[in-house]
Amino acid sequence: MTRKPIMAGNWKMNLNHVEATGMVQKLAWTLADKEYDGSKSECVVVPPFTDLRTVQTLIDGERMPFILGAQNVSEHDSGAHTGEISADMLAKLQVTYVVVGHSERRQFHGETDELINTKAKKVIAAGMTPIICVGEGLDIRKEGTHVEYTLNQVRGTLAGLTAEQVAGLVIAYEPVWAIGTGEVATPADAQEVCGAIRAEVAALYDQPTADAVRIQYGGSVKSGNVAQIMAQPDVDGALVGGASLQPEEFAAIVRFY
Ligand code: PEP
Repeated sequence: MTRKPIMAGNWKMNLNHVEATGMVQKLAWTLADKEYDGSKSECVVVPPFTDLRTVQTLIDGERMPFILGAQNVSEHDSGAHTGEISADMLAKLQVTYVVVGHSERRQFHGETDELINTKAKKVIAAGMTPIICVGEGLDIRKEGTHVEYTLNQVRGTLAGLTAEQVAGLVIAYEPVWAIGTGEVATPADAQEVCGAIRAEVAALYDQPTADAVRIQYGGSVKSGNVAQIMAQPDVDGALVGGASLQPEEFAAIVRFY
């Protein structure tokens, strides 16, 4: 089964409006120089909410081979939820992917597997694709229980989803100790957990679903380590933080092949 690699750049709460516009343009020029046309990997840009409209207009107007993503979504549909953004609002901005359960949201905003599961369902119901983040902290890694810990998050965040829904979504394995630290999991570490996630999806659903679901690795991915990580059989892409703010670096990640 061939799974198209998905390389997603999460800008987090960075870049002002002008910088965001410049970022997408530089990324487009750099990738055009590398003869990138989107056929061999997906390039997903994930700006803050306030830049979604502008970035989408640029992508569309200039026919850039990029796909738009959002960093979060509300678990509510509408109503008295000041400051929240619903799945329908994102869908109307032509967002395709929505990151749910990023470790920063779990750690600093109290997000649980149950909440992330609700958000993933809202994203799917609105016709978009969730990128569901899972992964262990340093304490769990040191205990050696990281595989079971992560699989537990997988079970919790996928609860109630059908095989067809799971086949279409993306799971991002991000060991928290490797995020923004420069500390990268070895390719073997990434494969160990990504392989276990795929086996768990097969056990929960069936082999065709496991073969179809895409699993990203995230945690200090750079141009210098992306090829080795992408060579792992169960790694289908990367969720990139810091390096996605450097257009040349991110372009090299997207054009890793
Ligand atoms: C992330 O925040 O999801 C991430 C992987 O960040 P970084 O690439 O900077 O480690």
